[in-house]
Amino acid sequence: MRLGTLIVSIIRLVLSCCVAIIPFAVNANELIYWIDVPKSKPTVATISVDTSQLGDFILSPSRDIPASNQTALDISCITSQKSRLTVKYDKPIRCESIQWSVRFKPLKANEYDASSQQSIYSPTGWWLLFEWGNLPRIIGNEAAAICVVGRDDVCKKLPDIHSAPLLFAWGKQTATITTDKLKLTLFADSTILTPELPNISRQLERQYTYLSQVFSQNRLFDWSLIWVAIDQKYKKVGGAAGTNAYIANYLVADDELTDKTLPMLLRVSAHETVHGLSNYTLPSWINESLAEYYAFKAVQLSMVKTSAPVDEWAKRRNTFPHADVGLYIAHKKVTEDKDMSYYPLFYLKGSAFWQELDLALQASEKKLDDYISLLSSPNIQSTDLNQAFIDAMIKIIGSSHWATISNKYL
Ligand SMILES: [Zn+2]
Repeated sequence: MRLGTLIVSIIRLVLSCCVAIIPFAVNANELIYWIDVPKSKPTVATISVDTSQLGDFILSPSRDIPASNQTALDISCITSQKSRLTVKYDKPIRCESIQWSVRFKPLKANEYDASSQQSIYSPTGWWLLFEWGNLPRIIGNEAAAICVVGRDDVCKKLPDIHSAPLLFAWGKQTATITTDKLKLTLFADSTILTPELPNISRQLERQYTYLSQVFSQNRLFDWSLIWVAIDQKYKKVGGAAGTNAYIANYLVADDELTDKTLPMLLRVSAHETVHGLSNYTLPSWINESLAEYYAFKAVQLSMVKTSAPVDEWAKRRNTFPHADVGLYIAHKKVTEDKDMSYYPLFYLKGSAFWQELDLALQASEKKLDDYISLLSSPNIQSTDLNQAFIDAMIKIIGSSHWATISNKYL
């Protein structure tokens, strides 16, 4: 799962006639999802796909947020006789093109929770489309991209269905941050953070350098960042990661930055960067808790004041829902019983677990960073830590210290 709420005391139809002229298209077989937003109504877009070369095809529903109640898209099939049929999923059909509408929530009043993962329109002149619920796929088609009508250069490949979802931002960008290791295109809902950008970009580069070493990936970092304000009265700062993009909230109080704005933005950014960098197969409790712990570690590097997970857990465990439940059971409650009330434990109790373990390793002059690859499991259904990882820990910290930590948290 790619959503991360830090609960810290925190497309008009234009048929694509000319696929081959699009500089972005890598091959003539690549399907283009054309998104068109009319100027008169920027919150409703039409997406259309030229399917005239496919013959019979089968459409499958869009990927969606797990456990969400997907509202079925109303998808039209335009036939060669120019009549309009409704497309049914998982049934063969033949169309000249297909089209449907998607909606964007207009941003206002510093109230958007980035972890809600709703597609948004900023009146400052940009859009963010989440894949979730919006992009059905043609079975058997591996190469597709989404492009903006009238902006042939603004395209993004649809990620593989096993990869993180598409987050597609376009329109008026706020800034481009380019450093030795990073190329970031920023979309923000106001210019309030602009004076901080040189400092923020240095911090993001430092985070990226560190996290890419730990998570064993060192690829070109050409990402879109979407920053959206949320007022502190909502007591939550969220984020969500997709393929080569993430969205993060930044905290404001009555349209002003606060002393918590930067630390929290950097922490959410680091959390989502971990999701973006890591290709390890991990159960969700490990995925979230590790992202949260490494967000803390990454922010610590910046000399920015941020609270330690073990301290946060100590402070809040007496009032935190399901605090006494171990992380393995919490994970089963979430995955088997679909009880999301256990999910926040992953962030708080989970990150405290990693910190306590890391401190124990550091006492023996080792560090958790060097053992992350042992956590990856070929079985995505598993809950428990891999035996190889546990064995490695016991070898360093001893079985009784391991038992103490695992009894306390797992
Ligand atoms: Zn997360």
